Amino acid sequence: MSTCRNEIDKNSFVMFGKMTMANQYFAGRVGSRFIISLRDEGKILGVRCPKCDKVYLPPREYCEKDFEKLDENWVELGNEGVITNYTVVNYNDKHLPRKAPYILALIKVDGADTPIAHIVEGIEPEQVRTGMRVKAVFAEKTTNTIRDIDHFAPVVE
Ligand SMILES: [Zn+2]
Repeated sequence: MSTCRNEIDKNSFVMFGKMTMANQYFAGRVGSRFIISLRDEGKILGVRCPKCDKVYLPPREYCEKDFEKLDENWVELGNEGVITNYTVVNYNDKHLPRKAPYILALIKVDGADTPIAHIVEGIEPEQVRTGMRVKAVFAEKTTNTIRDIDHFAPVVE
């Protein structure tokens, strides 16, 4: 048996590659309303759980704690928030949204209890800190995605 296995290993060669495939999927009722509101009104919407009061951003259909349905409990959130965590992306890949180095942060938008991941620009990577206040900078042209917020920038106080 082991001889046979070795022979296969010796005579097999595995090629590794990346596949890029165009695809589409329905964002769902909640995801659709969220993106449409960003695109058409420049408003960031979350959903509030009627049972535990937690406000989710990005919005989701059910509360992860109580399994309450949330899609009728929209709340308009602010366009500013606080960086709760971050990393500096130091490598380039054609699928990444920016050239390295750039800041990718978790941002808790005012009024939300959960953070969203987004790009922070307008400061050098070594200047970013948790607790820093940032504001959403909307894209000039829609992409019909979360990237209708182009990035977050530090709030100058
Ligand atoms: Zn809940």
